[in-house]
Amino acid sequence: MSAIYNFCAGPAMLPQAVMQKAQQELIDWNGLGVSVMEISHRSKEFIALTQHAEKTLRALMEIPENYHVLFMHGGGRGQFTNVVNNFLGDNGKALYLVNGQWSTAAVKEAVKLVGDDNIDQMNIVENCDGVNQVVLPDLNAIDKDYRYVHFCANETVDGIEIFESLESPWPVVVDLSSTIMSRQIDVSKYGLIYAGAQKNIGPSGLSIVIVRDDMLKLPSLPQSSIMDYSVAQANDSMFNTPPTFAWYLAAEVFDWLTAQGGVTEIEKINKQKADLLYQCIDSNPFYKNGVKAENRSRMNVTFQLTDNSLDSEFLKQAEQAGLVALKGHRIVGGMRASIYNAMPLSGVQALVNFMETFAKQHSA
Ligand SMILES: *Cc1c(COP(=O)(O)O)cnc(C)c1O
Repeated sequence: MSAIYNFCAGPAMLPQAVMQKAQQELIDWNGLGVSVMEISHRSKEFIALTQHAEKTLRALMEIPENYHVLFMHGGGRGQFTNVVNNFLGDNGKALYLVNGQWSTAAVKEAVKLVGDDNIDQMNIVENCDGVNQVVLPDLNAIDKDYRYVHFCANETVDGIEIFESLESPWPVVVDLSSTIMSRQIDVSKYGLIYAGAQKNIGPSGLSIVIVRDDMLKLPSLPQSSIMDYSVAQANDSMFNTPPTFAWYLAAEVFDWLTAQGGVTEIEKINKQKADLLYQCIDSNPFYKNGVKAENRSRMNVTFQLTDNSLDSEFLKQAEQAGLVALKGHRIVGGMRASIYNAMPLSGVQALVNFMETFAKQHSA
């Protein structure tokens, strides 16, 4: 079988080297004669794995000492709930910035839990002559007391990414699910960072939370112990049985990324990949993208065929060429190429070649 390039938005492709290593180790991990899935999470071997995972992640993201790293259940959406329950006790209020589908879903969950009165929302995407752009508000000009401000740095469905860091008088909580470790970010600017694993980290189910020490002192709402950040922190993310296999694979992905030269190096490749694809879209009237250059996602490249009656033919032929999962999200339509860390430059090159050939064949 010739190479398949998988552009799925999530669960997304994982580095091939990681998959091969996992395959080799599947039934005999670390010379134990059993799988990593079949051992106690409290065994010394597994604890060594978790310590290594945390150390590697800390180095990759340059996480300061006063931040805790938690490995939790519940993916990205699990944190929509946890952030509210952990920080909005005693009638606390929060501000949610909205720039696409995921930040909208986060607000919805927050409102469901604490009501409209405690959640303010602000749309930060403006459409200017058919082009969407993010306009960050001046938060320091707002005379209100929030426990935190929440935003989504990369809107996976809409293909809108915010590269600037947000200046805020309140702690910033950010959903990095689809952009974590794809570029350098200054962790010290955030009160809490979270990410579901299935885009740039590992298998679904796991989520990574990076939380500043003082945030754990905020009053919480009554909540399940397994979703409590303080409980997770006090128990080394092992209050109950964690998703051990996902944790193991995440550790392997961190090692792989370290071997690639870390976040600095992968960021260069990610830029190259995104530039190549957007250049193809912009230079060919056959394709279009409606996001302003500064806010175009480097991880999820959305695009439309100018003649959308060719959509299904495009998808069919792409699949025949080994380029799979290019269909856009059902809400926005069109196409989406998710090009996370694990997607090699050769995959994007193959896509661009295909797009150019397809356009030639179907131009009058
Ligand atoms: C995928 C995604 C989520 C949801 O993750 P689940 O693990 O499915 O809950 C949340 N936010 C963003 C930005 C995402 O890309």
